[in-house]
Amino acid sequence: MIAQPEASHFVNGAYLEDAEGPQIDVIYPADGRSVATLHGATPDVVERALRTAQAALPAWRAMTGTERGRILRRAADIIRDRNRALSELETLDTGKPLQETLVADAASGADALEYFGGLAGTLTGEHIPLGGDFAYTIREPLGVCVGIGAWNYPTQIACWKAAPALACGNVMIFKPSEQTPLGALKLAAILTEAGLPRGVFNVVQGRGDVGAALVTDPRVNKVSLTGSVPTGRKVYAAAAAGMKHVTMELGGKSPLIIFDDADLDDAVSAAINGNFYSSGQICSNGTRVFVHRAIKEAFLQRLADRVSNAVIGDPMDEATNFGPMVSEAQTAIVLGYIAKGQAEGARLVTGGTRLDRPGCFIAPTVFADVTDGMTIAREEIFGPVLSVLDFDDEADVIARANATDFGLAGAVFTRDLTRAHRVVAALEAGTCWINTYNLTPVEMPFGGVKASGVGRENAKAAVDHYTQLKTVYVGMGPVDAPF
Ligand code: NAD
Repeated sequence: MIAQPEASHFVNGAYLEDAEGPQIDVIYPADGRSVATLHGATPDVVERALRTAQAALPAWRAMTGTERGRILRRAADIIRDRNRALSELETLDTGKPLQETLVADAASGADALEYFGGLAGTLTGEHIPLGGDFAYTIREPLGVCVGIGAWNYPTQIACWKAAPALACGNVMIFKPSEQTPLGALKLAAILTEAGLPRGVFNVVQGRGDVGAALVTDPRVNKVSLTGSVPTGRKVYAAAAAGMKHVTMELGGKSPLIIFDDADLDDAVSAAINGNFYSSGQICSNGTRVFVHRAIKEAFLQRLADRVSNAVIGDPMDEATNFGPMVSEAQTAIVLGYIAKGQAEGARLVTGGTRLDRPGCFIAPTVFADVTDGMTIAREEIFGPVLSVLDFDDEADVIARANATDFGLAGAVFTRDLTRAHRVVAALEAGTCWINTYNLTPVEMPFGGVKASGVGRENAKAAVDHYTQLKTVYVGMGPVDAPF
């Protein structure tokens, strides 16, 4: 299986190569083989991308929203037509099972392009009556936007950033994660095929230094990052120096609170989805599973039974529903956390080991008797490690759920309607679920509070993060002056 793209970058409507850039090997984590070799952007490639984006901006922003939207919706149709090929590429890029990528990656990217394609023609300012005078607002694009992606959802992240940015009349330079560089190139080619003018969406590859070069360039007006909190702090600070707009989609350590009146099977399903989908490499995962003491042992029993049914293996086999970690480096990090969990006294219920097979496979792992101070309850692991913590009291569990610097997501399982709403109202989190987990349709805003981020992606809320308002006061009468 080889997934070599035509070239490393996509700039000014075409693939672009510069072999002077540092080599990036794309490793298929299911077996450790190299499936593509690319090059990080040289300063020349970065400069070309910036120039071409800037040059493309005036004509793109001058088009009507309906015209822009039509191109995005056409791209969504092409993506859906090619979903299988794009999903296979995503699986090679990330190692995620095809069973997942067929429904969750390119498909959700197409949803974003369709949604924001439809929204593009509806974007307007506001008329503000002021007696005889009046004011109005013009909703303007921000200009040149930079998108920087993480490796867990490479195609979805590229689309979640490109779709609203382009719909609002901005141009974009997207830098994928150096670990998963392939999907964004396909997106750029498909957008071009759909009629996107040259230079409106460009892809440059590279590591953090390429991202930093883009973020600090004075021609860039906005930066949208999906990544870890430490990277977010650096990128936010660099953007602040240039007074640039930011969207920060960062890490989490989200609580999933299960009361004793919850539907136990649904709660177990949510804990599985919120910890083991994509082998746990999801920012919004509910990795701190607070279970009411009255149902704790029953919950653990059912969870262990269900986890034993995971089909672990070749991600290209559609029967497989649990794949490898994205890389050897991430595997080592996760195994390190598992060792800490055991050393600090958590009870290993299932998993806890690397699987004896080629590739970066770690067994789905469940710890019980986890306490708030343990490392596995405090730090983002970004792997298939679920921690069960006990609780007795609603007020107490809310306080403990909030006792973290993160604030990306949270959920509650209960049949008590008023308690469900009371608990989510008290959670310090940007995205909450009641009696389900990790559903993030494009129609609803997504993002974090506290260290988990700034701004929102998706829904109409994203428009506020890719536009700015110009206010115009219109005098309709004589101008009054004191002298
Ligand atoms: P990372 O922070 O290591 O890297 C993210 C991106 O930033 C990469 O493209 C990287 O090359 C780039 N980068 C690194 N240093 C940079 C710098 N100084 N300037 C500019 N760019 C720089 O994250 P990762 O390991 O790729 O992804 C995992 C993290 O992403 C987890 O913390 C996860 O929670 C988070 N994540 C968040 C969301 C969300 O929507 N909130 C979604 C997915 C992943």
